[in-house]
Amino acid sequence: MTATAYDPVAFHDGLVRHGLIVPAGVDGIFGRGPVFEDVLDRFDKLILRIAEEDGAQVMLFPPTIDRSIIEKTHYMDSFPHLVGAVYSFFGKELAARQLSEQIHAGEAWGEQLAMTHVCLNPAACYPVYPTFAGTVPDQGRLVTLFAWVFRHEPSLEPTRMQAFRVREYVRCGTPDQVVAWRNMWLQRGVEVLQSLGLPAHSDVAADPFFGKGGKMLATSQLEQALKFEVLVPVISEQNPTATCSFNYHQEKFGEAFDIKTPDGQTAHTACLGFGLERVTMALFQTHGFDPATWPAPVRQRLWP
Ligand code: ZN
Repeated sequence: MTATAYDPVAFHDGLVRHGLIVPAGVDGIFGRGPVFEDVLDRFDKLILRIAEEDGAQVMLFPPTIDRSIIEKTHYMDSFPHLVGAVYSFFGKELAARQLSEQIHAGEAWGEQLAMTHVCLNPAACYPVYPTFAGTVPDQGRLVTLFAWVFRHEPSLEPTRMQAFRVREYVRCGTPDQVVAWRNMWLQRGVEVLQSLGLPAHSDVAADPFFGKGGKMLATSQLEQALKFEVLVPVISEQNPTATCSFNYHQEKFGEAFDIKTPDGQTAHTACLGFGLERVTMALFQTHGFDPATWPAPVRQRLWP
C-alpha cells in the first residue's frame, strides 16, 4: 500500500510525522531522521555491492568546489538560477560595524560581502574532471563518488531539495567505451530499482536550462538522447520523479579540462547519479512509512 495518494503536501507531512525528515526553517532544507538515514545508507551500499566488480576508483570531495570549475564548464550560461556561490566578509573595522548594525536593524547586508573562490557543488561529478587532465589509460577511467549537491530551488515539495546526496559514477574514455558503459548502467539502474519493488522506468530527459536559449539547448539534448532518467512516481503518477540520471557529455569536459585518449583524440565522458534522498522517499511512498512492514523481498535486498 502506498504511503499517500501521490499528494506532495500529505507526503511531506507524513515524512515529518514519522520522524523521517525534520523541518529546518527554509523550503527545500530539512534534517533527516535515523530511520531515513538507515534506508538511504543501505540503498547506497546496495549500489556499491552491485557495481563492485566494475572496480571504480573511490573519490570524495567536500560540498564546496573551486569556482573556476563553474567558470570553465560554462555553468552560469546554462543554470545561473541554480548556483550557490559562497560569499564572505573581507572588510575592515568600519565595514564590520556597518554590517553588524544592518543585521541588528533587520536591513539587507548582502552588499557587505564579496565573492570567495568557492561555490557549492552543483553536480556530483564536477570536481572529478580536472583530475582526468592529460591522457587517460587504454581502458579509460571510472570513478565513484558520494557527494552533497546544491541547487537553489526552494520548494515545499519534499523531492525538490536545495541540498541532497548523490551516489555518482563517472566514466571517461573513447566514445564507444563511454556509450557502452552508459547503456549497461541504464538497464542496471532500472533493474535495481525494480528489484526494490519500485515501479521504475527510463526515459530521455532534458536539463532545466535557463531562459529562451535554454529551450533550444533542451530540444537538442532530447534529440541527441544525451540525457536519460529513471523515473518513479513519488508525489505524482502523471509526473514521476527522476531518481537516477544519466548524462552523456560527449567531449564537453574533455575539451574544458584537456583530457585525451591514447590515440590523441579528446576524451568523452558520461556520468550517472542516484539521487539518494529521492530513492529513499520513493521507497517510503511505495511501501509505507514504516520499513518494518515493507515486503520481505525488499527488506532482504536492503537488510541482507
Ligand atoms: Zn554527473
